[in-house]
Amino acid sequence: MAEPAAVDLIRAKRDGGTLSDADIRWLIDAYTRGAVADEQMSAMAMAIFFRGLSAAELRTWTDAMIDTGQRLDLSAVPAPTVDKHSTGGVGDKVSLILAPLVAACGVAVPQLSGRGLGHTGGTLDKLEAIPGWRAGLSGREFVHLLSTVGAVICAAGDDLAPADRKLYALRDVTGTVESIPLIASSIMSKKIAEGTSALVLDVKVGSGAFMREIGAARELAATMVRLGTESGVRTVALLTAMDVPLGRAVGNAVEVDEAVQVLRGGGPGDVVEVTLALAREMLALAGLDPSQTAHDPARALADGRALATYRAMIAGQGGDPDAPLPGAAHSRVVTAPVAGWLRRLDALAVGVAGWRLGAGRARKEDPVSAGAGVICLVKPGERVELGQPLLELRTDEPDRFGKAIDALEGGIEIGPQAPPARPAVLERIA
Ligand code: URA
Repeated sequence: MAEPAAVDLIRAKRDGGTLSDADIRWLIDAYTRGAVADEQMSAMAMAIFFRGLSAAELRTWTDAMIDTGQRLDLSAVPAPTVDKHSTGGVGDKVSLILAPLVAACGVAVPQLSGRGLGHTGGTLDKLEAIPGWRAGLSGREFVHLLSTVGAVICAAGDDLAPADRKLYALRDVTGTVESIPLIASSIMSKKIAEGTSALVLDVKVGSGAFMREIGAARELAATMVRLGTESGVRTVALLTAMDVPLGRAVGNAVEVDEAVQVLRGGGPGDVVEVTLALAREMLALAGLDPSQTAHDPARALADGRALATYRAMIAGQGGDPDAPLPGAAHSRVVTAPVAGWLRRLDALAVGVAGWRLGAGRARKEDPVSAGAGVICLVKPGERVELGQPLLELRTDEPDRFGKAIDALEGGIEIGPQAPPARPAVLERIA
């Protein structure tokens, strides 16, 4: 059979047509091999941005991306495997707590994770603040740690859906990231290739998230749940709030420190609420009853089992869980200009401030500062007095303070009345 011409497929999608399975498989494979040029794939991504993909096209698109690499085989792991993926938010340190917590309750958590780009932090960047900890593991080490400790968070190898790496970089520079079928296939190709039996998605909604509107978040969540389920991966999604940073710490070392506070049975209530909700979903997907003592995640936080598993997980990847975490050389506080109730602390503003202080990167090859970040000393719903410190900004380079403070402009609102309470977990989509 003659190969299709990329330009014909682009025209077909541009004009609202449907691509055949063979066309999609050829396109993704040829692009990954370098036989279809970046400019042609950019045009196709833009056509998909405007025209979308049907359910059948999306299924094939996702499968074709998986087939450009290897699928991990986790059949040697004795416990059921369940992973979690978050679409990314500000102060989202949940994975650091959740993976060892769920492992302590009897489920293996294979988490292949990424580094942060822009204002949302990456789990690997956070863990790399721990002296000695390494993100790169061989396939054998991964399966060994998963079978013994029960929780692994590490970098995805080059062979996990390589089409996505190439396509994501292209989308990033062509204004085509914000497309539900392209986001869903990007995330789910990696998660399905990872070999997990079940998956819980944490789809963040609000100013600090990819999805600012609940309607779009619902559509993304439902699309990913369908893709996972059709591939034999039991998948559930929770929509969780991301208008305000999660917890009080935003950065790398500061988020590790806050995660450890939760693992010690303390920490901020919103982090605990989201973590326990996700943990219960993961345990239920593994067929365990979270209300039974051995599988109750609240109990595993309170009795030290989750902390013990966290320590083993960090040590298993060369990290020293007892080593002091790096600090920052300089700090500055932002104070309340008036007395009242803190009504709004915008997640995007705080995320960008943390990024400008050095906690995040602008280009994927940039380094991040382990000690930089923002501590939210006050959260919405709390009372403040005139001049009271609201935020503590930390950085290694004091000339970064100015731009970080600029990012906070308009992101803090203090008023005469307390804001309405808002739950952290908004909806469940199965
Ligand atoms: N995260 C991904 O992995 N892919 C996307 O397209 C968006 C977020």
